[in-house]
Amino acid sequence: MGKTSKDIRKMREEYKAIRSRSQAPSPAAFDAKVKAALVTLGKKNPTPADFLDAAKVVRFLCKRCAGTGRFVTGTLNGVPTGPGGICYRCNGYGSQDDADARRNFGADNHAIVRGVAAMLRGPATEPDLDKQEQDADDQAAAAFEERSYGRRD
Ligand SMILES: [Zn+2]
Repeated sequence: MGKTSKDIRKMREEYKAIRSRSQAPSPAAFDAKVKAALVTLGKKNPTPADFLDAAKVVRFLCKRCAGTGRFVTGTLNGVPTGPGGICYRCNGYGSQDDADARRNFGADNHAIVRGVAAMLRGPATEPDLDKQEQDADDQAAAAFEERSYGRRD
């Protein structure tokens, strides 16, 4: 059974989504690396599915740790200090593939949404949120996330 044009359109959209959340310095740099990966894989006439597979595995330098794999702990007079522990964005690899990018993208959205929810709720009366307040934040964040980004399954 051949791929329908709808399938192909869906794959193109997914490819663009992977590209936009990647750590690639530019869309062109992303495409170039995918093409190089396809050559390495011996795909002479790559299909849209081949492009998608390659897009998921190409790795780009982690911007969080500048490829060191170590968490930069702070700055002192504008100079990064550290190194601290393992960079949580790339798990110490110094580069990210799409699985890393997806995880980080989700975490970023959740952090933003959580911040908005906390803002809407008003200032905390206690310095530490208790469990009940955290649950309320999570629920508000989930509702906001659903409205903003669509339901995830
Ligand atoms: Zn990193």
